[in-house]
Amino acid sequence: MKSVQSTFIVILLIFCQTALAWGPTGHRVVGYVAQQHLTKKANKKVNEILKFYSLEMCGNHMDFIKSDTNYMHMNSWHYVSIPDGMHYDESSKNPKGDVIATIEQIIIELKTKEFNVFENEEFAIMALVHMVGDIHQPLHVGLAEDRGGNNVRVEWFGKRTNLHRMWDSELIDHLNLSYRELGDHINRDITPAQVKIWQKTSVRDWAKESQKLRAACYDFGDKKKLGYNYSFRHTKTIQLRLEQAGVRLAGLLNEIYG
Ligand SMILES: [Zn+2]
Repeated sequence: MKSVQSTFIVILLIFCQTALAWGPTGHRVVGYVAQQHLTKKANKKVNEILKFYSLEMCGNHMDFIKSDTNYMHMNSWHYVSIPDGMHYDESSKNPKGDVIATIEQIIIELKTKEFNVFENEEFAIMALVHMVGDIHQPLHVGLAEDRGGNNVRVEWFGKRTNLHRMWDSELIDHLNLSYRELGDHINRDITPAQVKIWQKTSVRDWAKESQKLRAACYDFGDKKKLGYNYSFRHTKTIQLRLEQAGVRLAGLLNEIYG
């Protein structure tokens, strides 16, 4: 009985974690793409700091620690809620923090080497890899009333899930590719000129892009049974957001360590 209970708890933990962030594959793709765009110097420094981790394998750390009481105060750092038609600057802020403020704070700490909010440089980089991914998931810049789609129940090939989880994991997992295969696929056509344009944008621009994209996530009307058609219409957006996140993460790390 005990093992049944602990299995249930483990399943529940995995369920809770994947409900609030790109799933494991998405975050690994972001780190893997970033790795391809790092300068030699930045790559050496970042990997020295991360020690046992690679960029692709450290991207899920912020989700793994979510259920630890020492880190629960960080749970609101994965997303931001902004009403339709409103800018972040004029919206009321979550006093516990949000993904925009968190990324901006990480950048300050990595540049000044003064770690106040984040434990140390290694932790700050791991948090950066994760949060730059999250902010590019359109429903992480969501509406408070449905918790970024978490309250929108849908069926995905007959399985009960919710809209947020569709975008975190289901649409990516449906591709049935490893993070490296997906990372190579989305990174193969990128030009240096495009990289430059994407890296010139700010954290708040990334949030604005997600906010603009999120309305399309709800384009199933009353038909809540999603499958091939929904996947076909949205896979390109998911791939674009993962690629942009990876390229921009590399841009930040190159700026700090290159
Ligand atoms: Zn997250």
